[in-house]
Amino acid sequence: MRHVYLDNAATSPLAPEVFEAMKPYFMEQFGNASSVHWYGQQAKAAVEEARAQVARLLNARPAEVIFTSGGTESDNEALFGVVEAAGSRPGGNGGGGAGGDTGPAHIITTTIEHHAVLHSAQVLERRGVAVTYLPVGADGIVDPADLERAIRPETVLISVMFANNELGTVQPVEEIGRIARERGICFHTDAVQAVGKIPVDVEQLRLDLLSLSAHKFHGPKGTGAMYIRKGTNLAPLIYGGHHERDRRAGTENVPGIVGLGKAAALASACLECSARLAALRDQLENGLLTRVPGTAVNGDRARRVPGTANLRFDGVEAGSLVIALDLQGIACSAGSACSSGSATPSHVLTAIGLSADQARSSVRFSLGHSTTTEDVEYTLEILPPVVEQLREESRKSRVKSQK
Ligand SMILES: *Cc1c(COP(=O)(O)O)cnc(C)c1O
Repeated sequence: MRHVYLDNAATSPLAPEVFEAMKPYFMEQFGNASSVHWYGQQAKAAVEEARAQVARLLNARPAEVIFTSGGTESDNEALFGVVEAAGSRPGGNGGGGAGGDTGPAHIITTTIEHHAVLHSAQVLERRGVAVTYLPVGADGIVDPADLERAIRPETVLISVMFANNELGTVQPVEEIGRIARERGICFHTDAVQAVGKIPVDVEQLRLDLLSLSAHKFHGPKGTGAMYIRKGTNLAPLIYGGHHERDRRAGTENVPGIVGLGKAAALASACLECSARLAALRDQLENGLLTRVPGTAVNGDRARRVPGTANLRFDGVEAGSLVIALDLQGIACSAGSACSSGSATPSHVLTAIGLSADQARSSVRFSLGHSTTTEDVEYTLEILPPVVEQLREESRKSRVKSQK
């Protein structure tokens, strides 16, 4: 059977060049990057080269990049690290932060964040931190005016994701960065769905903290990084040895880090690859919109990362559609990978104003560099009759239940 992978937002296949770059660091060059001898030096040099590659992709300095176990850890580090640092040092980041005399710390995030941010924020709330969750419009985008209104004297952190994982919508990060900088508030962005897909420049966007994850752009799973602007007041999440400038303890995952560096270098070299992806995505989306009646796109179609499309098929249960497509070799997802299998509709889709039924009939297709025109054509051939059949079945079962 033909296999078509349209779930790159969940994870993406490792690029062959990335695998080649990683290989020596499993066997011959197995050293601990903290060791003084030759083995250690080889590992250390590889880690530092990867750090430079990641820094180049973000227009950051290598000393401002630390490696983590992935996007989830980086997001946790940003939220817990900033709040803890602000609590232990009144005045917080850049003078605008919380003080002992201004009451409990306050952070601002959005209703459409990844659970790595949302669940961290909820834990902070239980610990007494005030959290504002900014709404989004039907377009899936935050209004910076809402952000300005939400800022309080005790606000220590603004965490707004770069690109949403379910819709692909890109937030007004530059404007948010300007507002945060003016008020002296630390600004974190979960850029896991943006890095490697669209240009991300930490200077232009005035970012203080950024999360990224290797496996979302053809690097290995279990490896991520964090950009930490020099001077940012951030407590560690993980304590131990003096790794990563005392910001993140633990023996470095050298092969993973090398893989992340290589993936970053490939992405730096090919940001125009996104034009090809966007064209394929549009071909798929427009094809489905014209061939399948009762279909609509969720979220803004223009301000989106290139590979992602989120479509709803009226009267179709997304979970059944995903399974029916899987039987034909097509991999996509209902909601995000993390929320599939749960009965509650996606928090992102309800945040853009969809009813529970509309949210439950929405499917995400996410393309990657390995996606071909043939993949899209195959999907355009298979999907319309599958949707028609599912609608027919649900019509029949409705009639039956009415009898
Ligand atoms: C995948 C994802 C994460 C989590 O990254 P992991 O490396 O899988 O832990 C965080 N945020 C967003 C937006 C994501 O898409």
